[in-house]
Amino acid sequence: SKGGIKMSDCLFCKIIDGSIPSLKVYEDEHVYAFMDIMPLTKGHTLLIPKTHCQDLFEMPEEVAANLYKVAPKIANAIKEAFNPIGMNTVNNNGAAAGQSVFHYHLHFIPRYDETDGLKVEWNSRQAEFPTEVIQSIAASIQENLK
Ligand code: 5GP
Ligand code: ZN
Repeated sequence: SKGGIKMSDCLFCKIIDGSIPSLKVYEDEHVYAFMDIMPLTKGHTLLIPKTHCQDLFEMPEEVAANLYKVAPKIANAIKEAFNPIGMNTVNNNGAAAGQSVFHYHLHFIPRYDETDGLKVEWNSRQAEFPTEVIQSIAASIQENLK
């Protein structure tokens, strides 16, 4: 048991062990990549670690390294297949951030035009963060990286 749930109750652990079917596109010792069942765009793919971790916060460095190592391979395979004009990789951590399956996953969402399935809105609030505020924020993060 990890991340507060039994792995036997985890949807994506079941996809890895084959007890729930999926459309696999890639697999190695450490990771599994498959088609999202409700794709936003043509080629929407998910990449997951075989080791259960709930989200980025609880992902061991080695699991992260093994996962991101294949990210360019997956991205380029989708690019070769469908010739998108761009691609978003998205990882939601926590329900408030839109996570609905609590086994870490990296979305690959190829982009085709303004009317495809993904709308990303950046509402910058630059006025609330003058330079000295950003400096203090940076210091807080840095402190926790020691
Ligand atoms: P999240 O919202 O947690 O970032 O993304 C979860 C993703 O998993 C969603 O895009 C959803 O469509 C996908 N998903 C949920 N259940 C299944 C399933 O049983 N099979 C597959 N292939 N994808 C799933
Ligand atoms: Zn899992």
